[in-house]
Amino acid sequence: MKRLGALLTLLIVVSQAGVGAQVSQKAVSPQHLLSAYPQFLKGLDQSTLVWKDGTRTPLSGGHPFTSAADRLDRPDLSELLRQPYPSCTPLHTPAYAEDPGRARPAAFFDKMYGNSPAAVRSHLVSVNWFGQRVLFSRVNGANLALEAVARDLATRPELRNYLTPSAGTYLWRVVAGSGRQSAHSWGIAIDLNTRYSDYWQWEGHKEFARNIGYKNRMPQAVVWAFERHGFVWGGRWYHHDTMHFEFRPELSFGAC
Ligand SMILES: [Zn+2]
Repeated sequence: MKRLGALLTLLIVVSQAGVGAQVSQKAVSPQHLLSAYPQFLKGLDQSTLVWKDGTRTPLSGGHPFTSAADRLDRPDLSELLRQPYPSCTPLHTPAYAEDPGRARPAAFFDKMYGNSPAAVRSHLVSVNWFGQRVLFSRVNGANLALEAVARDLATRPELRNYLTPSAGTYLWRVVAGSGRQSAHSWGIAIDLNTRYSDYWQWEGHKEFARNIGYKNRMPQAVVWAFERHGFVWGGRWYHHDTMHFEFRPELSFGAC
């Protein structure tokens, strides 16, 4: 009886630990894609995303990943959703390889925002970023989200130096040192003032090196203003890029 009791206790402890581990690493539900992009997406058919134009995109690309870099080089939708983004939580130093939102299946974003410079440019509109005119996509209301961020931050003049001048929004390019399409290509990302920014590549680190030291000078109030309007911040990544914000409402849907 005593042994049975001990066994039961052990089972309970193991199952609680298992639940805890699952909760902390639980992937984002694909339903968040539907909520974030209702103009494009119709529904889910088991594990396939169905677009309004009839296109069907399996959540899994069907290929095993060979390395952490491979996950970023050719992510599928499951990979996009694998790491929950901690929107509207206090700023913290990300753990090794914690990069929520950094994996972008290019075909998914190409289909919404444009798959060439000309296609993307046809959707760009001018947004007033504290007196600076910047180009942003009007697709999915990304421009309206950026305007809302600017409105929120307009009441905080003490934060202005972090925000301006913006180091850029739209630019069709790949991420430096990789073949991956940058979110700037789709007109959904903005870089803030580089003078108060930190970027892992500026210190000569190799990607996924263990010794990338985290640095950040961006105040939480700036980060939260973006996050509450559907942006993710590069400062929440192990590969930190603290000037960088991009419109990713499938991942950032907090209230703060
Ligand atoms: Zn950027």
